[in-house]
Amino acid sequence: MAAFHTFNVPRVIFGRGTLAKLPEEVALLGGQAPFLLSTPQQTDQLETIRKILSSSSETSIAGAGKVTVAGSFTEATMHTPVRITDKAIDTLKSLSADLIISIGGGSTIGLGKAISIRTGLPHLCIPTSYAGSEMTPILGETADGRKTTRSDPRILPRTVIYDVDLTGTMPATMRATSGINALAHAVEALYSRDASPVVTSMAVEAVRSLSQSLPKVTDDNSDAEARSKAQEDALYGAWLCGMCLGNVSMSIHHKLCHALGGSFNLPHGETHTAVLPHSLSYVAPKIGPVMAQLASAIPGSNGDAMVGLNSLLAKLPVKLALKDYGFKEEDIDKAADIALSQPYWSPRPLERDAIREVVRRIWAGEPAR
Ligand code: NAD
Repeated sequence: MAAFHTFNVPRVIFGRGTLAKLPEEVALLGGQAPFLLSTPQQTDQLETIRKILSSSSETSIAGAGKVTVAGSFTEATMHTPVRITDKAIDTLKSLSADLIISIGGGSTIGLGKAISIRTGLPHLCIPTSYAGSEMTPILGETADGRKTTRSDPRILPRTVIYDVDLTGTMPATMRATSGINALAHAVEALYSRDASPVVTSMAVEAVRSLSQSLPKVTDDNSDAEARSKAQEDALYGAWLCGMCLGNVSMSIHHKLCHALGGSFNLPHGETHTAVLPHSLSYVAPKIGPVMAQLASAIPGSNGDAMVGLNSLLAKLPVKLALKDYGFKEEDIDKAADIALSQPYWSPRPLERDAIREVVRRIWAGEPAR
């Protein structure tokens, strides 16, 4: 067995209606004056947590004091721009906050991480999408049009409250692309250079759970009971995917998405969705046993993981051509060069012509084979 490290994970509360547990979790962290974060689009959810905290009386946590919200910041933005983090910290400076609470997708959680690592304040996350950032010690930030990523155990949030009810408000397309974003973490964990037995088990379970649930979660006409169960399975799968992302290194798929999304300002989940079949097809010849694991976990594979993945994508309300999101044909060479500019490990060595062809197919949305 290869060497592996044990990993740190935040405390996790998972279920439906778990938002009601927020006062207890704030008390467990010793928080009495939380600073709340959201995007402009999710201020309703921020107000809900403000109400829950304001109306909470005593918790069962010994010695816990009364909680008074210190303040809020509702300008979280895609790709965590440093100028927004600076603005949030300026607001924070005039308050006596002792805890950060982020409610939202990966962008809001990214802002919470950026503030937490700069101030040392503990961070409690309430994720509302499937992106998985809440389970990782990774922070991506943008400044001067460049996205940089760093990993530091101190970035890892302390507590995560997963409330399945909060994911129901995602538009159907986002449920699909955010779900495939999560799936990509598990797929790459299976062929990671530092794959560990525990992470591999979580990744297989995550692929099974998400690939079964996403078609039901995204079909607003499906039976309500089946959809409700599928929402739980999808968030469970997304949580596992987040743990995979946080505990083993990623490879060609995430690097391609980083090159495309970061340099050409393409939407995050949509980029992951368009790239995944092609990145998997590129490495498939070198990862036979992983392809067999994927084929057995994805329904409809008939022994071929590419068939299974393509059939899953065909059931979802997603577009697979990056030209539909503004990526230009004349930028294909530039994107291939960026993807190759920083060498990284891949199960199949990176070949310029083959990578260029991968990027061209992603631009065109041609089916991966
Ligand atoms: P996002 O956080 O950018 O959200 C996109 C939009 O959807 C926002 O307007 C948001 O308010 C809205 N939204 C989120 N949840 C919603 C809900 N339940 N109902 C209605 N609207 C909702 O999108 P994302 O895909 O969650 O996150 C993408 C970002 O997260 C990227 O910047 C990516 O780099 C980062 N990310 C980081 C990590 C990490 O480990 N550091 C992992 C995954 C993603």
